[in-house]
Order: sequence, then C-alpha cells, then structure tokens
Amino acid sequence: MRVLLDGLPSGTRVLDLGAAAGSFSLGRNDLLLVRADRRVPSPRKPGLYVAADAARLPFASASFDAVIANHSLEHFEDLEAALREVGRIVKPGGSLYVAVPDASTLTDRIYRWLGRGGGHVNAFRRPKDVIGPVERLTGLKHRGTRGLFSSLSFLNNHNFTAPPPKRIALFAFGDERCLAALMWILRGIDQRRGTRLSRYGWAFYFGRIAGEINDERWVNVCVRCGSGHSAAHLRKTGAARRAVWRIETYRCPDCGAWNLLSPDDR
Ligand SMILES: [Zn+2]
Repeated sequence: MRVLLDGLPSGTRVLDLGAAAGSFSLGRNDLLLVRADRRVPSPRKPGLYVAADAARLPFASASFDAVIANHSLEHFEDLEAALREVGRIVKPGGSLYVAVPDASTLTDRIYRWLGRGGGHVNAFRRPKDVIGPVERLTGLKHRGTRGLFSSLSFLNNHNFTAPPPKRIALFAFGDERCLAALMWILRGIDQRRGTRLSRYGWAFYFGRIAGEINDERWVNVCVRCGSGHSAAHLRKTGAARRAVWRIETYRCPDCGAWNLLSPDDR
C-alpha cells in the first residue's frame, strides 16, 4: 500500500473504503483522508469519517484521487455495485489498492470457522477472481499484485473489541506469544516444504501507481498490528535481536509487539 500512498502528491484526496476504525495509518498529514463504512466505530484512527453503504456512496463523481479497499471487498454484499461506485468516484487517472484474503488459505478458513462466516460474503480463490471484476467495473487497469502473509492477528486478545467466540480456547485464548510461535512454525514449514500455511491473500494495484511495485515477500507480519516487514529491513534497522541459538526475535516498528523473526523467502 505504501508504494501507492507515498507516491501521491500533496493535497490528494484518498478514500478508505470499508474502513471500520481505520484500515491503515497514513503516515503523512498533507492528504485529505476520508474513511467510509456502514458504521463509524470508536475509538478510531485519524481521518474524516462518513457512515455510508459501499453500494451507494454519498460522494460526487470523480471526487477522489485514490481509493484504498483494505480487507473490505470480501465483506460487500453487493460487490458489483460497490465496484461500480469506486469507478464513479475515482478521478480519471486515479489509483486503487485492493487487499483481500485468499479463501483457500488456512487463515481464511480459521477466520470463517471461528466467526461462523465472519462476515466474509465474497470468496476469492485466484487473483483473476479479483482482477477481472475490478477492471471491468471500475475501468482501472491492473498494474501489479503482491502476495500477502498472515499473522492471525484477528486471534490476538490484544485486538478483541468484543467478547470472543468460545472456540478461541483452541488458540490459547488469543495469547500473543503463543500466536507468534505458531506463525513462526507455520512459516518454517512453508519455507521447507513449499506449503501455503502462512499465506493470507493478495494486494492488487490498479490505475496510476507512481512507485515501483516489487514482488518482495514480507513474511514477517506483526502478530498484533499486521504490518509486514522483510527480515533484511528488521535486521538493518536494529529491530531484530538474537534470542537463543539461531532463533531471532523483533519488536514491531509500528506497534512494539514482540514477534519471532523468520528468514526472507528466497
Ligand atoms: Zn505491529
């Protein structure tokens, strides 16, 4: 997402679509950020909040330079109408970022099992399940795709905003260090066996993207806030520490949570 946000000129209007309490932190204060969702929760991240249905957005045509749909398309009951609305409100030459879960992954299966569906009404199993409808209904051309990795942060008891389902007992009641250890084991199995246990889904870029979309795999995803980093970056910035034997840990640069470090994929 940063490659899109960092390349936007000052004064740009950005829409966080399906924002909940704010689906991302902007990291700069020279953009106009509007966050839209059916309900406006509290507490929430900075931004101008609007209660709106994605299928009928209360904005003028061509009123946003960029739209961010970060983990929201899987929740939209009328996906076609929502994508048409994105195509209407984004300016010609605008940009769109979409992140969705891969419905075939362990993470999405756990999410739906734990939350009895969890509000995921649209299942995407291949990149073309997203790219095709988005291009057709928004008119924005696909520019690149990145694979995303999971941290099971929705199971973390630091992130509970309501009493969790009883099934959380199977995941050590959302204990952060247990989840960090579980993800480290799953990433290790993936790297040795070529499995997809730690995969989450994809990030797609559409329209005008100023920066370069690289295909680096950021397997180290924070168990609390979900931000991804490469092992090389965490070591270079001093966030990583050697614990015992060859095991390394790191403090998340974004939220400070303790995580176990996995090597970058080759
Ligand atoms: Zn974090």
